[in-house]
Amino acid sequence: MGEEKHMCPKDSEKPAIAGGPKACRVPWEKAKRYGEEELSQLKEALGQGTLFYSQGKKVSALESAMAKKYGMNYAIAASSGTTAIHSAIIAAGISPGEEVLVPPVTDMGTLVPILWQGAVPVFVDLEPDTYEMSPEAAEAAITPKTKAVIAVHLWGNPCDMDALEALCKKHDLMLIEDCAQAWGAVYKGRPVGTMGAMGCFSLNEFKHISCGDGGLTVTQDEQLARRLRLATDKCYSREANVAIRQPRFLANNYRMTELQGAVSLAQFEKLDSIVARRGAWCEKLSEGLAGAKCITLPRHTKGAEPSWWFYMFRVNEEVAGVSTDEFAEALQAEGLPVAPHYIGEPMYRYPVFKDHSAYDRGEHPFSRMDYSKASCPVAEKILKTCIQFAANEGWSEENLREAVEGILKVDRWFAEKAG
Ligand SMILES: *Cc1c(COP(=O)(O)O)cnc(C)c1O
Repeated sequence: MGEEKHMCPKDSEKPAIAGGPKACRVPWEKAKRYGEEELSQLKEALGQGTLFYSQGKKVSALESAMAKKYGMNYAIAASSGTTAIHSAIIAAGISPGEEVLVPPVTDMGTLVPILWQGAVPVFVDLEPDTYEMSPEAAEAAITPKTKAVIAVHLWGNPCDMDALEALCKKHDLMLIEDCAQAWGAVYKGRPVGTMGAMGCFSLNEFKHISCGDGGLTVTQDEQLARRLRLATDKCYSREANVAIRQPRFLANNYRMTELQGAVSLAQFEKLDSIVARRGAWCEKLSEGLAGAKCITLPRHTKGAEPSWWFYMFRVNEEVAGVSTDEFAEALQAEGLPVAPHYIGEPMYRYPVFKDHSAYDRGEHPFSRMDYSKASCPVAEKILKTCIQFAANEGWSEENLREAVEGILKVDRWFAEKAG
């Protein structure tokens, strides 16, 4: 069966790397991000005569819209996702030498705030098919110095929050959610960002919604909200009745400007539609690829509705008979927007950790950790065999048909060659 096809495939069935036609004929056109809505908000912001957050109305309107949408008491804006996370870490009271549990596959924006605070990141392995932090591995990594867990909802897929919440409760740890990649994702009916003590979001150019650079943190807790606000503004209180400023703790200038607030307000209106379009496209991609032999499709966490910041699958190299790089090259030859290995190496292999080179001289508390001995075998295997497929709300039905056709063609080719 399939023997003749295997021996001499028709040209149209050959992948592009073997001289067949490219599967992708229509261009991959990303949706236009900014338009009249943003322009009109910007005009209003400029018309205010001030671009300072505590004097204008845009940042506070954005914070109110965010808090309302997420059903939270407070939302505090920041200058980026990274600074939102740092303000959460400051608000949580994380201090030098204390440990924070993090996944080894994320953006440096999750890690930089921990290091800057003088705290020590401890890397926790992932679940093989959801790519999220393993609650069992997290529990095993807890020491008397552990103070917080950052749950990173990678690729828009929520972490196993029931397990992480229980763990943090049991060990009295602060649970902070990094929702930079997960705008609009939901876990068992609850939006991500609303389950931890604080939920941090990014508005950088590449996230679901953007103002160029910006961040937001939500919380239900009044005390945390007060500290978050101070943590973004040099520990200065802008309340009208506080005349003398005497900062009580170390805080940077992480303020959002009215220009960022204005653009974010316009973007906020588009969020639901962006999340819905990405979700529908990526779910259909998974349906179309269900029969593939050489790849393992992404699986969302039980009870989760992911929001697909990107789509990532893994190559079963034994079945394909080729390396992930060769498989990715074949997909790229079809014209597909894919790249192998995501961040390449787990974070603990980065020089800053391995060589403790955060600062030129002097001791940082993380120097007590030997990151060259860190080992997250599941994360390492995921990075070795994963292929990232760019997601975008602008991808069309034709893009989808060609993506499925191209991936299945390459999949069949290698599966049959490997026999
Ligand atoms: C983008 C991102 C950040 C940092 O956000 P910035 O706005 O770029 O500072 C943090 N964590 C994750 C998981 C991200 O993807």
